Amino acid sequence: MPDTSKDLIDIKSMTLPELTGFVTELGEKPFRGRQLYEWLHVRLASSFGEMTNLSKDLRSKLSQEALLVSARPAEILTSQIDGTQKYLFSLPDGNVIESVLMRYHHGNSVCISSQVGCAMGCRFCASTIGGKVRSLRASEMLEQIYRIQALSGERVSNVVVMGTGEPLDNYDNLIRFIRLLTDENGLHISQRSVTVSTCGLIDKITLLAQEKLQITLALSLHAVTQEKREKLMPIAKRYPMDRLLEACREYFQVTGRRVTLEYSLVKGENDSPEDAAMLGQIASGMHCHVNLIPVNPVKERSFRRPDHSHVEAFRNRVALSGVSVTVRREMGADISGACGQLRRGYLDEKKKTIDNAGSGSVTAGGAGSKEIDA
Ligand code: SAH
Repeated sequence: MPDTSKDLIDIKSMTLPELTGFVTELGEKPFRGRQLYEWLHVRLASSFGEMTNLSKDLRSKLSQEALLVSARPAEILTSQIDGTQKYLFSLPDGNVIESVLMRYHHGNSVCISSQVGCAMGCRFCASTIGGKVRSLRASEMLEQIYRIQALSGERVSNVVVMGTGEPLDNYDNLIRFIRLLTDENGLHISQRSVTVSTCGLIDKITLLAQEKLQITLALSLHAVTQEKREKLMPIAKRYPMDRLLEACREYFQVTGRRVTLEYSLVKGENDSPEDAAMLGQIASGMHCHVNLIPVNPVKERSFRRPDHSHVEAFRNRVALSGVSVTVRREMGADISGACGQLRRGYLDEKKKTIDNAGSGSVTAGGAGSKEIDA
C-alpha cells in the first residue's frame, strides 16, 4: 500500500508548544492547541470526528493538513493462563508491528516495538530475521500504548521498550516519545515506570545519560566476554565490552538510576558455572540489577533454554557475588513465542498467500491458525 501520508503533519508526534504553533498557523486561537493535544494524548481519539469541542471548520482543516497516526489491531491473542495479550497492529503504510500487554499485581505493563524489524542481528532473536524495514515515529510508539489502553479499557502504568527494534538506533524519535508519554498534559506515565532496553550502542547511551531522564536503562549483555558476546550478538564487534560497561557505570553516575543487565540464558552457550561467576563479578562492580531470561526458542534458530534447575543454579551462583538477580517470569506462555514471532508468523502467512495465489492481497488477521478475538 503506498504511503499517502508523506506531506501531512504528524500532529501526534508534536509537543504542546509545537501543536499550539501549528493550530495558530491554521488561523485558530492558541487554546485550540491544548484542546487538540488533550484529544490526542488524554482522550486517545482515533478520528477527527470524535473531537466534538473543535469546530467543524477546524476538523475539516485538520483532516486536510494533519496526519492522525493510528494503529489498527490486525490480531489480538489472549493468554488463558494470565491474561497477557499480544497485539499485532497494522500501520497505514501496510507494515505490521507487535506489542504486548502484561497484567501484574502492581499494574499493567505494555511492551512496545521501536522499529519495524531490526538491523542488529542478535542470533537468538526473531525480530532481526528479515532485517530492519524502518524506524517508528514517536506517534507510532505512543499509539501502541494508547490503542491498548483504549481497547482494553485498563490504565497502562508501565512501559518497556523491549519489543522489536533497537530503540537507540531510533534515538530522536525515542526521546520525543518518552517526553510525550511522560508529559503531565498527556497520559503522564511516570519516567520511573519506563524502561528502554538496548543491545549496547555506547555513544547513544552516553547521549541518553545527558537527557537526565529518570527512566531505567536495560543493557542486553548476554555474555561475559567480548568473544562470546560477538558470537551471540554480531553488533558487539563495534562496541568493546569494557567501554560499554563503563558507559553504563557513567549512566548511573549521571542519572542516579540503577541499570538492569539482561542475560538470556542459552543452553551450552552462556550458561556454565564460570559464566555465572563472571556475571556476578561484572555486576558487583556496578550499581545494577541482573535479569536472567531463559531464551525463548525461535523456530528459525536452534538455540534452546537450560532446564529449570540449571537456571536456578545459575541464578544462585550469580547471587553469591552479592548482586540482586532475578529470573524473568514468563508471561503468556500459551501465546508466547519470542518477541517478533507474531509478526514473523504473519509475514510467513502473507508470503504463502502470495506464493499460492500469485496476488499481493492479504486480509488482516491472516496468520491462519491463531485465535482472533477482536
Ligand atoms: N534491541 C533491544 C530491545 C529489544 S529485545 C535490545 O537488544 O535490548 C528485548 C530483550 O529480549 C533483549 O534483551 C533481547 O536480547 C531479548 N531477546 C530477544 N530474543 C530473545 C529470545 N528469543 N529469548 C530471550 N530473550 C530474547
